[in-house]
Amino acid sequence: MPQRVYADWNATAPLRAEALDAMRPFLYGEAAASFGNAASVHRFGQAARAALERARRDCADVLGCAPGEIVFTSGGTESDNLALRGLAWAARYAWDERRLPGVPRLAGARFEHSAVRETLAALQRQGFEVEGDGHGSVGAQADGRVDARALLAACDERTAAVTLMLANNETGVVQPVAELARLLDERFGPRPGRAWPRFHVDAVQAVGKCSLKVDELGCDTLALSAHKFEGPKGAGLLYVRRGVTLEPLHAGGGHEDGRRGGTPNVAAAVGLATALKLAEAERPAHVARLSALRARFEAAVLAQVPGAVVHGASAERVANTSFVSFPGLDGPMLVLALDAEGLACSTGAACSEGVGRPSHVLDAMGLPPDLGRSAVRFSTGRLTREADVLAAAEIVARVVGRLRAK
Ligand code: PLP
Repeated sequence: MPQRVYADWNATAPLRAEALDAMRPFLYGEAAASFGNAASVHRFGQAARAALERARRDCADVLGCAPGEIVFTSGGTESDNLALRGLAWAARYAWDERRLPGVPRLAGARFEHSAVRETLAALQRQGFEVEGDGHGSVGAQADGRVDARALLAACDERTAAVTLMLANNETGVVQPVAELARLLDERFGPRPGRAWPRFHVDAVQAVGKCSLKVDELGCDTLALSAHKFEGPKGAGLLYVRRGVTLEPLHAGGGHEDGRRGGTPNVAAAVGLATALKLAEAERPAHVARLSALRARFEAAVLAQVPGAVVHGASAERVANTSFVSFPGLDGPMLVLALDAEGLACSTGAACSEGVGRPSHVLDAMGLPPDLGRSAVRFSTGRLTREADVLAAAEIVARVVGRLRAK
């Protein structure tokens, strides 16, 4: 069988060698003796603590924030949960203390990742008001971008938090995060004086592709996940702006400045920081290279597959993502057929893979169910070569042609 092509980098990426090398001393009980518990006072603990704080400083440099504003977590899902549940419950306690009427509200768009959508739905079940159907009601425009003013209109004086992802995981479309931050400042007063609404940004798919400077983005909290940028799986961070109070998800020994109980995973934090620093340093060259590869891939697919539709192509997209519908075909079946021919891709978010529902992202863009059901996502990364994307386009054309002929 010819070499397989991996075109599912938005689902996950391999661990890069530099990250693994940096992690090694914190996993083994070797000479460096750095495997200690970062909370221990002895030398073993001190070495671990020093590495953890170095990793925190490195991440803070990339985000343009203070090290104390970084909380290490187990990944993007935990970071989104910590932000939204943490902000919601902190607001609820403050509401009760001040005897404010009603319950805090939450707002978000319909095309968010399930880590955000399901957290909003869970908060609604816990008695918070979530605008829309509990998963956010504001859709996207036909190009995949949300209208920042529509999201602003979903917020009022009772809104504890509003959430907007930086890059969509299915279409790759970059959302108007800085614009929404500015509109929130105009309407509700500037931070830091303003208590609510807080603004959460899921930037999980944006690393190495967009600037992550939190002051430019204007967010209060921001979620990252290491395995999307060649760091270890099960590692993430949440940026929490100074002065923003979060109710922790799990109580414990006061770790992470009381914001996340539990012995920190030092090796994971070191691997995350190493991969993040490299992704940011390589960003300009990476974006230029992947944009060119995507242009070749999409041109080849559109030339060879009649009726194929590339979503979000008229908006700014992260450089590595193509979300393409093949009308008349079933997305999950197509993904299996492509895999059988050596091309790994997906219908969208890996966690909802196989569910067989039309893409909620395309639905939020107002597209018909046939386009949503027949959509397949191709996403590239640092190790993708030109030969891979040309082979991918050739496999797509061949398999789609065969399935359509049936
Ligand atoms: N947010 C977005 C936009 C994602 O794409 C993902 C993963 O697919 C997550 C959150 C969840 O991240 P993790 O896999 O680290 O839990």
